[in-house]
Amino acid sequence: MTSADRLHDKLGNLGYSREDCRVLTDQLDRVRYLKDLRGAVILAHNYQRPELFEVADAIGDSLALSRKAVELEGDVIVFAGVHFMAETAKILNPARTVLLPNPAAGCSLADMAEADAVAARVADLRGRYPDLAVVSYVNTTAAVKALSDVCCTSANAVEIVNALPNRQVLFIPDRNLAAHVQAHTDKMVIAWDGHCYVHQQVTPEAVGAMKRQHPDAKLLVHPECRPDVVALADAVLSTEGMVTYARKSEAARFIIVTECGLSDRLYLEMPEKTFYRACQLCRYMKANRVEDLVASLERMQFEITMPEDTRVRAERAVNRMLELGGGAPRPAPRVPVLA
Ligand code: SF4
Repeated sequence: MTSADRLHDKLGNLGYSREDCRVLTDQLDRVRYLKDLRGAVILAHNYQRPELFEVADAIGDSLALSRKAVELEGDVIVFAGVHFMAETAKILNPARTVLLPNPAAGCSLADMAEADAVAARVADLRGRYPDLAVVSYVNTTAAVKALSDVCCTSANAVEIVNALPNRQVLFIPDRNLAAHVQAHTDKMVIAWDGHCYVHQQVTPEAVGAMKRQHPDAKLLVHPECRPDVVALADAVLSTEGMVTYARKSEAARFIIVTECGLSDRLYLEMPEKTFYRACQLCRYMKANRVEDLVASLERMQFEITMPEDTRVRAERAVNRMLELGGGAPRPAPRVPVLA
């Protein structure tokens, strides 16, 4: 059996033809060669195209990947994800070169909170609530993280807000995740009016219809979805939370309500279980293709940079999350060896 046949065995059910897999196999071999040549590690977010998982050193959500990058050897990090994720990797790995394979891989949610507008809103709110804490979801730019007291992920947002001593919180940028947090805290959560266009498109009517079609399936919903969709869930989980839940659950069927890439990963990792898709595709997440990884490693493009004072302040907000969220301590940063 050839490598292309093996790839087709994996991806055929996801709509990839034998010819697609033959072309991809050659491109993936080229990525492996360049990866070794550059001393690079490749990190792939859960929502990426499934063929990218074939060359990934780690697959996961954005923060888990950035922390993983600290542990993995390699002078170069190729982040197969979107821009704010690659920025987070740079925040936590300042001595290493971080590359985003395709500059079109942005995020409209992160773009909904511009740093100048955030600074103005914080100044205004602190006039009324001097005790206000600024909590930013990892789906923000480094400049917004630098204005924040603490960061959070969809997995630990409730825990972080409850762990803060402050009574009022400005939550940036996702209003749906803010509503989920507000439902689980007695603090005052002031939501930034942003949303993820992918999760916002999911309606309770569509999810309700799937639930009626598959009544024995567990309904797993991402908290970036609208509150009326979240209200239908058996469990409200981050992407990594969904993977863990499906792996540990005795249930055999699941309806997955988030970006479709996660359903691909679940199918590849747990072929014995059934995952129904109530999902939407993210155009930003799907921007990265294998040929972009090849070009990125060949030309060392597109490098993530930021002013050092922004990086340091953003790192403080990320580290505060790790302290408050009870996450495992970060490994010591790799110190570059100076020749
Ligand atoms: S799924 Fe939503 S939050 Fe994630 S990159 Fe796409 S637009 Fe941004």
